[in-house]
Amino acid sequence: MNLLLIGPPGAGKGTNAQYINQHYHLHWLASGDLLREEVAKASVLGKKVKEILEQGKLVDDETMIQLIRHPIHGLVREQRGFILDGFPRTTQQAQALQTMLREEGTSIDKIIVLDVDDDVLVKRISHRFSCTHCGAVYNMLYHPPKHADTCDRCGRKNTLKQRSDDKEEVVRERLHLYHQQADPLLVYYQEQACSISHIDAMADIAAVQKRIDSVLAS
Ligand code: AMP
Repeated sequence: MNLLLIGPPGAGKGTNAQYINQHYHLHWLASGDLLREEVAKASVLGKKVKEILEQGKLVDDETMIQLIRHPIHGLVREQRGFILDGFPRTTQQAQALQTMLREEGTSIDKIIVLDVDDDVLVKRISHRFSCTHCGAVYNMLYHPPKHADTCDRCGRKNTLKQRSDDKEEVVRERLHLYHQQADPLLVYYQEQACSISHIDAMADIAAVQKRIDSVLAS
């Protein structure tokens, strides 16, 4: 089964993709992670997109499609099914994806859309910090570490950092862009007669995962 996970930043795409990955053994590809890896490597592409990511803007379609083509072909050849998280974000990317999948004789089976209220999201994301050493994620409002400057999981000090694109003004820009892009994207997939399921991602995590189970079972 091949899935698309669509939702605004902070809706829990990563958490739920991880759940699907672990429980349904589907490969998980997150376009934001691919881009952040390029930035961390300081590759030519990484240098080009660093500022775009920091401003919460979208990387241009051509660059994004070029970057993702190889990993997508790799995923399809593994024949285990996959979840795409963060790609496609525009209709042009969706068309390119459809062509890539068609070349491999496959397609998208289901689309899950995580719905969340914008103000709730801004609160969630702009207080999100993660440990640069072990990756543990905290929310300074809802799930703070026991000691402000120490990671509960690995015990290191001064490693809790905010992603530069998680600052409030940048989050608002990312949400604005999300709404501008997601609506036409969903219209595109409706026209392709794809199965689209909306899930209330403000419900607690167990309820969201139960809904995911029922969507995947249907
Ligand atoms: P994410 O981790 O999915 O929130 O993505 C982080 C950032 O990476 C976004 O704010 C964009 O700047 C960029 N990005 C991720 N996926 C895409 C995409 N499909 N198209 C364009 N830009 C993207």
